[in-house]
Order: sequence, then C-alpha cells, then structure tokens
Amino acid sequence: KLYNEVQDLKGNIRVFCRIRPAGSTGDRTASCTELGVDGEVALYNPKSQQRKSFKYDKVFGPGSTQEEVYEDTKALIRSVLDGYNVCIFAYGQTGSGKTHTMAGTNIEAYSGRGINYRALDDLFALNAKRKGEAEYEIRVQLLEIYNEQLRDLLDETKSQKRLDIRNTERSGNNVPDAIQRPVSCTEDVLAVMEVGASNRSVAATSMNERSSRSHSVLTIIVDGINHVTGVRTHGCLHLIDLAGSERVGKSEATGDRLEEAKHINKSLSALGDVMSALASKAQHVPFRNSKLTQLLQDSLCGQAKAMMFIHVAPEGSSHSESISTLGFGSRVS
Ligand code: ADP
Ligand code: MG
Repeated sequence: KLYNEVQDLKGNIRVFCRIRPAGSTGDRTASCTELGVDGEVALYNPKSQQRKSFKYDKVFGPGSTQEEVYEDTKALIRSVLDGYNVCIFAYGQTGSGKTHTMAGTNIEAYSGRGINYRALDDLFALNAKRKGEAEYEIRVQLLEIYNEQLRDLLDETKSQKRLDIRNTERSGNNVPDAIQRPVSCTEDVLAVMEVGASNRSVAATSMNERSSRSHSVLTIIVDGINHVTGVRTHGCLHLIDLAGSERVGKSEATGDRLEEAKHINKSLSALGDVMSALASKAQHVPFRNSKLTQLLQDSLCGQAKAMMFIHVAPEGSSHSESISTLGFGSRVS
C-alpha cells in the first residue's frame, strides 16, 4: 500500500521557481539570473564567468503578478474541495520573496494579495457557486514552528501552551489542541490573520527577524457534503512560509542565534529528504526527522499533492545562496 501511495504522489510534486525584481530589498548589485524558456533559468557567476542552468516545472520572472502565480496554483487548491490534501511551500533565503508569494505585499489592494488570501476567496466563491448541490465548512489553523516547537498563533490568551503532534487512527497526524476558526468571508480571514500577526510579534524582538527564523503553517480545512450523492469529503490545504534558508556564518552564530540556525538547518534538510524520497519513490520516507515533516506527513502521502515555490533573489551578491536554493529545487523535483 505504501508503495502505491508514494507512487501516487510522484506525479503530484511540482516545483516552481519565482525570481523577484532586482533591488526590492535595496541591494544595488546587478542581477545574475537569466530567464530561459520552458521552465529554464540560468545563474551567471560574474567572478568565474560561468553559467549554470536549472529546469523546473515553471519559472515566474520578476515581472510576474500575484494573479498570474495564483492562476497556476488554482487547480491544485480547488482539489481540496474534492478531498485532496495539498501542501504549498515557499522556500528561499530571507528577502527572496517567500512572504510576498504566500501572504502578499500591501494586501489592502487586491493586486498585492498572495496565495493565502486568493485561495480562501476562491474556496468561498466555489462554495457559493455550488450551493444547493454541495456545502463546505471552511476552518483555518495557524501554527508557527520555532526551534522545533509548535506555537498556536490564533491563541488569543497568549498562553504559550505547548502543542504536540498526535497520531489518531481516524485523522492521522494532527495537533488536537490547536485552535481552528471557522471562516466564511474575506473579512473573517483578515481578522484571523491580524490575530496571527499580533501573536507572532509578541515573543519577537523584531517581527521580521522572528518570521525569517520560524516556519509558519496556515492550514485550511475543508469539510464538504454533497447533497445529491450524500458523499462527504475532508481535505486540507497547508500553506507554508518556511524559515529563511540562508546559511549562517560560523562567526556570526553564537548562543540563541546558533541554536536557531541549527534547528532551521535540520528542518529544511529533513523537508528536502522527505520530498526527494517521495519524488524518487524511495521505500522509506524519513518523516520523523523534524516537526514540520511530522506535521505534514498525512498531507504528503496518499491522496496528496505538493507544490514547492523556490524563491531567488536575483542580485549578484546572493549568487551562492541562489545556487543552493536552485539545487534544493532540483533535488526535490
Ligand atoms: P522573504 O519572506 O523571503 O524574506 P519578502 O517576501 O519579505 O521576502 O520580500 C522581500 C521584499 O521584496 C519585500 O519588500 C517584498 O515586498 C519585495 N518583493 C518580493 N517579491 C516580490 C515580487 N515578486 N514583486 C515585487 N516585490 C517583491
Ligand atoms: Mg518572510
């Protein structure tokens, strides 16, 4: 059974590369990315004058809009209504555009909104459209994984309660104590996200710092019933803004910072190991090596689909980080 499950997913892992516009973070060094056709991207090394090419399912260039990116994830997201489990990951160094893709930038304007908001809006719209025939209940859960510990970002009591992943026969690996908020319109979602954002900054010295060192996992749970056939469905969409993948120099990492770096490193490589085992149909998939992969285990097996957005900062000063990001993308595809 396991083999079939793994094989099922093989065709269901997509790797998309997104290159953000040069200069977004104030870095003025020249761009070293070259966009090819059919999912090709090359990185030029000004020092060695060498060019290295990579190929993915698709590459989104610096001019691509939030709408265009959503257009290509829409089908995957909609399959959650049919009971599929879907994971969408944003991978890349800090400043490469992960949060831009998932949450968005300047979200007051619709054009700035990322996959998270668009996915929920799309699910609401489909729910309305299928009214009479089918009905869906949509809930959201928002967790943060920091130093291999889970925190509930929707817990307004700020209890800092320890959360654990449990395995139950009926619903597989889950977090029974996590809060799940029912949502039925955009306003609900914006309110929930606000709670999450304020909670996230509580423990952080600087919100941006904290968010680049923890994984945030927004889970959209969809329970449906088809009134015509009587069939019930249950699907989960996990939208994951990963911790920054940059390597931390030995000299700058001491104390807490070193501890964080070790945990990030460990969990990102555990994720890479799981994805590449799934992609190569390996017999053993090492889910147990990190909290993140344990949490997502059931959504990466069986009726599951996954998409990895690898993000590249185009500036020459990020060349070596970009090489390692592109390498990660190749490894999991
Ligand atoms: P990360 O979450 O990986 O640290 P951010 O998403 O915060 O990176 O992006 C860094 C900066 O670049 C932000 O100011 C963001 O608005 C901007 N940015 C990122 N990607 C794009 C893009 N595709 N188009 C325009 N601006 C972008
Ligand atoms: Mg970010």
